[in-house]
Amino acid sequence: MTDLPDFARYVVIGAGIHGLSTAWHLATGLAARGGSGSDVVVLDKAEPGAGASGIACGVIRNNYFQPAMRALMSHSVSVWESDPKSFAYHPVGYLQISPEVMHDDVAAIHAEQQAIGYPSTFIEGADESRWYLQSIFPDWQARGITSVLHEHRGGYANNRASVRGLVEKAEAAGVRIVPGARVTHVPRDGDRVTAVETTAGTIRCESVVVAVGPWIRDLWRLLDLPETISVLGRDGSTYRRPMWTYWSLQEGTLAVDPSFLTDSAGAMPPVVHVDTDAPLYDDEGALVTDKLWGIYFKPDFNFGGVQGGAMPFVVDRPTDEVAVDPYGPASPDFVVGAEFARMWTAGLAHCLKRFEGKSSYFSQEPSGGIGCFTPDSFPVFDTFRENVYVVADSNHGYKMIGVGDLVAKELLGDPQPLLEPFRFSRYAAGRLHPVSHSPFPWS
Ligand SMILES: Cc1cc2nc3c(=O)[nH]c(=O)nc-3n(C[C@H](O)[C@H](O)[C@H](O)COP(=O)(O)OP(=O)(O)OC[C@H]3O[C@@H](n4cnc5c(N)ncnc54)[C@H](O)[C@@H]3O)c2cc1C
Repeated sequence: MTDLPDFARYVVIGAGIHGLSTAWHLATGLAARGGSGSDVVVLDKAEPGAGASGIACGVIRNNYFQPAMRALMSHSVSVWESDPKSFAYHPVGYLQISPEVMHDDVAAIHAEQQAIGYPSTFIEGADESRWYLQSIFPDWQARGITSVLHEHRGGYANNRASVRGLVEKAEAAGVRIVPGARVTHVPRDGDRVTAVETTAGTIRCESVVVAVGPWIRDLWRLLDLPETISVLGRDGSTYRRPMWTYWSLQEGTLAVDPSFLTDSAGAMPPVVHVDTDAPLYDDEGALVTDKLWGIYFKPDFNFGGVQGGAMPFVVDRPTDEVAVDPYGPASPDFVVGAEFARMWTAGLAHCLKRFEGKSSYFSQEPSGGIGCFTPDSFPVFDTFRENVYVVADSNHGYKMIGVGDLVAKELLGDPQPLLEPFRFSRYAAGRLHPVSHSPFPWS
């Protein structure tokens, strides 16, 4: 960590997974071209991992209905696999367990995973799915399941530990990281940003990367970019949409020993994601929901228990105060509600007999957080103004550790086809990503 220099060729705003990965890859790319990694400076208003990357559940999967997302995730999984120790990456795999209404979507995902060489097994049929799941968890009992997609790569990583791994790699490559520097103004000469003003002083620069996670709306405003945009819909009509919408991510931990959720061989199981339309009842036998619902969970020593989440919900556009620090300890948005605890623990017991009667173990520790989503809930990776690269992942992003590699290549003049489907121009042109039947906005 260092003080603010008065000039850098590249200023990266935000020391989360994307800012740090971009800085690390940019520094190594510059060095490979005879330049210096110290041409890259990362600013953070707090410290590395102070945002969404430091609290993420950490699930890493390929299971996306959108081909462009799958291709991107496959690339990112390779980056996780390049150094599992430094990134605290656990390659336990991932299970997408689905009801009949999602069967065709997931079958298509499996077929396309085979086409891109991403290893997965697809189980079809109610009995076959139950047998497969009971071979992993002998007490599996969820109803209404007719398919299982088992991804053999992916798994999860420990949020803060992987951020530390990225900091070490970036600094070893020469990157200078400046904590405690909140960006307040980005002066321009015409359309070109010339400097970045912060609470720690001003730094002149040639290029800027904005990677501020859920604070993107604030930086978007500093860049005088539009609050609402035109989106050409699938029906051929044009709609005005707010550029940014906030969702509350519902997560929590059951305070049992993580080994409570080992598999039939006593080993760490794959991350489990279940969607189902079977009615859900709580410990007292009261109906929780009879609509399509979904939860995910994994044993996790980092969180100290069985950790996971459920479907998010849209929150009213947060006040400016909340947007400035959505993860401040005093923020009420940080604490998930009793309804989530009831639903998630009921979901665990619906799936596995071992969780029956365990809802009182739900941890009251603050959990969850806010995500900032784009008009179609998929990322925007693009250049704005003349020299500002925006990495806005629409809350898909902890798993996307490889995006920084691709962004760095683009900054060094090498356009990346994997990023092409995520340009801002897709909204006006109607080149939207396909939408699945999943109850989650990120699948
Ligand atoms: C509860 C929760 C669970 C999640 N679980 C998963 C998961 O399991 N898998 C997954 O893939 N994704 C998950 N996500 C999404 C993922 O965490 C985010 O998409 C990703 O971490 C965003 O990374 P980032 O680098 O863009 O932003 P962040 O990690 O938020 O980093 C942005 C940084 O910018 C800094 N900053 C902000 N404003 C300024 C400013 N004005 N000046 C200087 N610095 C500034 C912040 O301090 C922060 O450190 C989850 C998100 C949440 C909230």
